[in-house]
Amino acid sequence: MSPLTIALTKGRILEETLPLFAAAGIEPLEDIQKSRKLIFETTSQNVRLLILRGIDVPTYVEFGAADVGVSGKDTLIEHNSKSYYEPLDLHIAKCKMMTAGMKGETLKPGRIRVATKYVNLAKRYYAEQGRQADIIKLYGAMELAPVMNLCDEIVDIVDTGNTLRANGLEPRDVIGDISSRLIVNKASMKMKHKEIEALIDAVGTAVRERLAA
Ligand code: AMP
Repeated sequence: MSPLTIALTKGRILEETLPLFAAAGIEPLEDIQKSRKLIFETTSQNVRLLILRGIDVPTYVEFGAADVGVSGKDTLIEHNSKSYYEPLDLHIAKCKMMTAGMKGETLKPGRIRVATKYVNLAKRYYAEQGRQADIIKLYGAMELAPVMNLCDEIVDIVDTGNTLRANGLEPRDVIGDISSRLIVNKASMKMKHKEIEALIDAVGTAVRERLAA
């Protein structure tokens, strides 16, 4: 059978993800953070790791190019696909999806402009709130947009809120709690049921032990 392929993201999420997979007996054979390679063999002979941009992980899993992936709930909500399972909350990379705006400023009535990386999520949120909002897609440095009058509000992920405060902004409403999730391709779940069940069990145990520690 083809190797079990797991799609991960480089950076701080990887640092929190690798110990959970190590507890399941899966460790990369070289240091991912120091390498430019994109495919890594592991201590488990039939498991390999792919290193992708976070936003591409659900796409690889959706099309079965990876069997399993680790992706932030923010990315999954934005991707909005029903073509994979989401069996496990890894309880890592926790933060909140929030609205934010200039400190001390109240939101003007009527139609507003909102800048965000999360266009679909923001559209849904403001519609639910009964607010007319023109959504502007940005790819980074969202905090600059209200300062430069590009928008009235932003939608972004907030951890400590330090980035907002450093730019004269304040957090406003919490849209939802975010953490990283394990996702599984639907066909892989059938074809590689034994391996994937074992992986979910082992990683799930590691997650519970980490939370209890
Ligand atoms: P903060 O701690 O609120 O200053 O967060 C700084 C920036 O880090 C935010 O604007 C986010 O873009 C990013 N960030 C915070 N938490 C996470 C997370 N769990 N996953 C990915 N990016 C994050």
